Amino acid sequence: MKYALLDRGDKLSEQLAGRFHQLAADKGFVHDSESPEMVISIGGDGTLLHAFHTFLHRIQEVAFIGVHTGHLGFYADWQANELDELVELMATASPKRILYPLAQIEVETSEGSISYLALNEFTLKGVDGTLVAQINVNDEMFEMFRGDGIVISTPTGSTAYNKSVGGAIIHPSIPSLQIAEIASINNRVYRTLGSSVILPQHHHCDIISRKEQRLVLNIDHLNIQRDDIQAIRCSVSSSQICFARYRPFPFWNRVREAFLGYDLTEGER
Ligand code: NAP
Repeated sequence: MKYALLDRGDKLSEQLAGRFHQLAADKGFVHDSESPEMVISIGGDGTLLHAFHTFLHRIQEVAFIGVHTGHLGFYADWQANELDELVELMATASPKRILYPLAQIEVETSEGSISYLALNEFTLKGVDGTLVAQINVNDEMFEMFRGDGIVISTPTGSTAYNKSVGGAIIHPSIPSLQIAEIASINNRVYRTLGSSVILPQHHHCDIISRKEQRLVLNIDHLNIQRDDIQAIRCSVSSSQICFARYRPFPFWNRVREAFLGYDLTEGER
């Protein structure tokens, strides 16, 4: 098996990375950062976002595994003390391949169109003031937004920034996009729904800039600032991210453990 590994860079993650390389070599795995079949991320959910963007060009060929060096995460569902068990399973068992939806955006600028994929979400905000934008759904005007910004999240990203702005948590088996507002201004000119909106896979939305404005576009942890964004088309991507799952860990259990603090025993997983 050919694998690549990314770690968060803190002491514990680096130690675990060293341990993983040792265990993997004992099993005959080959460390190959150019054309891996498996990508191991050691750190947190944030580290897995970095791993996803590093190997985006091989998204059809790789499967991801996340090891968390803190609490259990949404993408990083192995813990530091389970590394030996993980490597043993990688050597002996066939994983279930779990596919999660991604968000695709096409950004229209004065220099042409640029396309991006996001695992969690993309966020649009004004740099010098509020964002002013028209939102169209399926090519028809839906609402006129003025406020701090807009978060467009994937189902797995629904537990991240989207949740902080009051969006719903979506099960990742539902290919969809969620549009959530960040502090919208509502008056006679600018009027928005207020609640978040969930679009199915066969729908799309456009965010059309309605004033000359410098905008900051966050794609997961990446940050892009431009003053020539004209419009952004958002849809569910035809690509998906694949996770190698060696044991079940249902999404709702992760939500319960992360946000409500109820721990499950091994037997209940
Ligand atoms: P960061 O600010 O260092 O960490 C953001 C936090 O979000 C970390 O605790 C991370 O968990 C957690 N996280 C990441 N993906 C998640 C998911 N799908 N579900 C639940 N929690 C998740 O930033 P970063 O590490 O570069 O990650 C970028 C992400 O930060 C963005 O994609 C966005 O979702 C999130 N963010 C959230 C807010 C907010 O909630 N107000 C604001 C800006 C950005 P780990 O500790 O396991 O890494």
